[in-house]
Amino acid sequence: MAVGVKVGEAEVFALFDGRHPFNLEWHYPSIGDEQWEPYTETGPKDLNFGAFLVKLDGKTILIDTGWGPQFAPPGGLESPPQLLDELAAIGVAPEDVDVVALTHIHPDHIGWNLIVGDDGSVAPRFPNARYLVPEDDIDHYRRRVDAGERIHPSIIEQGLGLTALDVTELVRDGAEVVPGLRAVHAPGHTPGHTLYVLDSAGERFVVLADIAHHPAVLHETDWVQSFDWEPEQARENRERLLKEYEESGCLLAAGHFPYPSLGRIGRDGDGRRVWIEEDVDA
Ligand SMILES: [Zn+2]
Repeated sequence: MAVGVKVGEAEVFALFDGRHPFNLEWHYPSIGDEQWEPYTETGPKDLNFGAFLVKLDGKTILIDTGWGPQFAPPGGLESPPQLLDELAAIGVAPEDVDVVALTHIHPDHIGWNLIVGDDGSVAPRFPNARYLVPEDDIDHYRRRVDAGERIHPSIIEQGLGLTALDVTELVRDGAEVVPGLRAVHAPGHTPGHTLYVLDSAGERFVVLADIAHHPAVLHETDWVQSFDWEPEQARENRERLLKEYEESGCLLAAGHFPYPSLGRIGRDGDGRRVWIEEDVDA
């Protein structure tokens, strides 16, 4: 698949790693059928697992790395994870990636980070990349592991595992990934949850990360997703940022929305915020 669009001088590609049926009850346990009613007919039937690639000033930046080959969501994926094939289809080899920028270290965003050998050896999947990881996620999950809590093994292996390698840099709010691309800390889903904002030649593109898993949440910003770590903070940041991005009309990437997950925020006839898919050749 792997479709691309221009954003100013930059090129942005949507990459598909997999998808599976969207279990609304599991993701939004506090939301009843009647609340879903306005959205179920037009809403997606599948949950997408996407990543994005930005080419800017000769740099190749991969934002998130999908489920990867080692782990899978409950119920599995409909097809084998395919991020590397997607990259190959646009002529990008793992060696070509200069930066891997992670929005947070949940398993569906970090799965292709590292190659772990049978002997326990660990190597970066993208051997020439710097890996940018939200500092607050590393601190949070490290503390939980130290406290003996059960943590998804992918977070330990593909997330915390990065810190043992000298390719890793911890990112905070406002960090510059490369000139024109910066990190925006938006905690709530996780403590370190980070969006990435590209500005090029007067155009803006924002990777929304897990601000929303379902397009209905663009309007229903107080709906809490089952993995939101701090629901109140997640709600506040969701409403504040979506309002800003609606007003600016900028291009957005929402990796859990149906592939290619690129669009903008508009309004329907009832005044509800809706997802307007970008017109791209898929
Ligand atoms: Zn996610």
